[in-house]
Amino acid sequence: MVFLKGNFIKKDKAFISVMDRGFLFGDGVYEVVPVYNRKLFKPIEHLDRLQQSLNVVSINNPYNEKEWLDIMNKVVYYSDNDDQSIYLQVTRGSDTKRVHTYENLEPNVYVESNELKTRSQKELSKGYSAITMKDIRWDLCNVKSTSLLANVIYSQEAKKVNAEEAILHKDNVITEGSTSNVFLIKNGVLFTHPTGSKILPGITREVVLESAKSVNIIVKEEAYMLDDIYDCDEVWISSSTRGIIPITKIDDKSLNNGLVGELWEGVYENYLENIKLLKS
Ligand code: PMP
Repeated sequence: MVFLKGNFIKKDKAFISVMDRGFLFGDGVYEVVPVYNRKLFKPIEHLDRLQQSLNVVSINNPYNEKEWLDIMNKVVYYSDNDDQSIYLQVTRGSDTKRVHTYENLEPNVYVESNELKTRSQKELSKGYSAITMKDIRWDLCNVKSTSLLANVIYSQEAKKVNAEEAILHKDNVITEGSTSNVFLIKNGVLFTHPTGSKILPGITREVVLESAKSVNIIVKEEAYMLDDIYDCDEVWISSSTRGIIPITKIDDKSLNNGLVGELWEGVYENYLENIKLLKS
């Protein structure tokens, strides 16, 4: 079952007008909320970020917090899976003709659930590869916009070479991944790009930073140079659907002799505790 424009319906019966501005312009924002053992993980943080995205693009939030939680919990309930990812999207609405400007429209809301396949620690411990690519996106990357053309290009390039992620750089500074935040560890210090308009303020990013601090890693939300990336001791990426993934190879160059670093293990275990709390 999915939720579309106020109704819970079967996915194969869910249709929307071709005049939806999300379809015509990518004029909408979205969120992805992970669910562990049928419980939403950090839903309020995701709803707060949704509100921030909506504010920037001046789309009215059609629901209050309680209504959103009810909708998401119902979609969770209707799914067969214990671990899920809830995708929700709010577009500006459907118009009568295709013009860039808009009048007052009623936003269109779509919510669906997908199975969340978590990777085992053993699998993660083998490490993953990434490529680096120039960050050609606009300067509102803090908005979780449904216009994802650049991210689609990056992800496809990574897929072509069997890489887990494309790590992006702007003016020689590492910003984030095509669908994740990036953490770079050198001499026991964790660096990650500060929040602002250049990156999405990831909800998992906050969990990573809290976990890192709790195991006494020094955290610096500062620029990290592309030129220095191959000399990192460890590189991780994070996202709601993938958790914290260790990167051991970047552009065919191995980090830490191709081995997952020990700081990752400590932070990952702390993060697992967070999730397991929901599982108990
Ligand atoms: N940056 C980008 C560009 C993303 O698409 C994502 C995943 N939505 C993230 C960062 C990570 O955000 P989160 O931890 O909230 O999933």
